[in-house]
Amino acid sequence: MTPDFDLQAHNTFGLPARARFGTTVTTADDLVPLLAEAKAKNLPLRILGGGSNVVLRPCFDGIIALMGIAGRDIIGRHGDQTLVRFGAGENWHAIVEWSIAQGLSGLENLAAIPGTVGAAPIQNIGAYGLELVDRFHALETFDTLEGTTLTFDRDACQFAYRQSFFKRAPGRYVVTSVTLAFPNAWQPNLAYPGLSDIPADADAKTIMDRVVAVRASKLPDWRVTGNAGSFFHNPIVESAVADAIAAYHPEAPRYPGGAGRVKLSAAWLIERSGFKGFRYGAAGVSPNHALVLINTGGATQAEISELAGQIVAGVKSRFGVELVQEPELL
Ligand SMILES: Cc1cc2nc3c(=O)[nH]c(=O)nc-3n(C[C@H](O)[C@H](O)[C@H](O)COP(=O)(O)OP(=O)(O)OC[C@H]3O[C@@H](n4cnc5c(N)ncnc54)[C@H](O)[C@@H]3O)c2cc1C
Repeated sequence: MTPDFDLQAHNTFGLPARARFGTTVTTADDLVPLLAEAKAKNLPLRILGGGSNVVLRPCFDGIIALMGIAGRDIIGRHGDQTLVRFGAGENWHAIVEWSIAQGLSGLENLAAIPGTVGAAPIQNIGAYGLELVDRFHALETFDTLEGTTLTFDRDACQFAYRQSFFKRAPGRYVVTSVTLAFPNAWQPNLAYPGLSDIPADADAKTIMDRVVAVRASKLPDWRVTGNAGSFFHNPIVESAVADAIAAYHPEAPRYPGGAGRVKLSAAWLIERSGFKGFRYGAAGVSPNHALVLINTGGATQAEISELAGQIVAGVKSRFGVELVQEPELL
């Protein structure tokens, strides 16, 4: 373990951050002695993947383990699907490209999402009309409370919009591998705006390339301008709340939110509350995408968090809607 571990290169916001100790986990077996060491030192143990969905505090008084478990194993056919097990440390976009190169279509709509395979189930990543749950079979975890390994099937993960069982017990379960299910009779999913002009007989590679291009045109590149993608969930509200907004703003986007509720666009609410392009110290709201908070250079966690607080308060006072932050404050 490395003491006083520098995490600035391990979070896509590029925030200055350090951990009391840091290490890399390359096999599931590494977790047993690591947990014993954390207990002996009486320090919390947390896993970090690509650091693309976190806001890191300047100092984490504990052990950060970078997830580095590799592995891409085609298990075989299972009913009308093909199962593939991936190590949790695999880069997500790399496995999207790899699976398509193997003739396994189905992840193309989720191309170019930063981060690791092991983090994908934590918030049930989603984009362009597809969520992880749509391709999920099972995952393996190490339970840091009991020191045991556990397999979770889809039901046990309790996936929902940017939610899973694991978010209710942050840090308890370390995902060590994820098994995905690729449909043998794959059909393209082109319903989402930005993909609808693609010919219906397009292959997965064509769709992946389009998703990569559209995302690059919309989202700031975190390697250039630090960010964590969408900073807030799209709020799901009672229909009466959405109707009250629509009475004054008929143009406000609204989508089915399940159980008669309505999903609103957080980007629209933020923009209409006057925050698009807003700067607070070295933190800011992207001038191109109101849902993306950015590090304009040298921003601190405090600046990002205070800016987020101002946005939450502004949207609440203007529209009566409470935004929920997506990246974990760690
Ligand atoms: C430019 C940009 C665009 C994005 N676009 C999208 C998008 O379209 N859709 C979307 O859903 N998300 C998007 N995100 C968010 C992010 O990419 C995903 O949430 C991704 O899955 C995070 O992976 P990570 O490895 O970076 O996780 P990290 O940020 O390292 O960790 C996130 C959380 O998961 C936990 N965690 C990480 N690995 C494990 C593990 N193996 N076991 C248990 N817990 C773990 C961490 O402790 C932390 O709580 C975007 C982010 C950026 C920067």
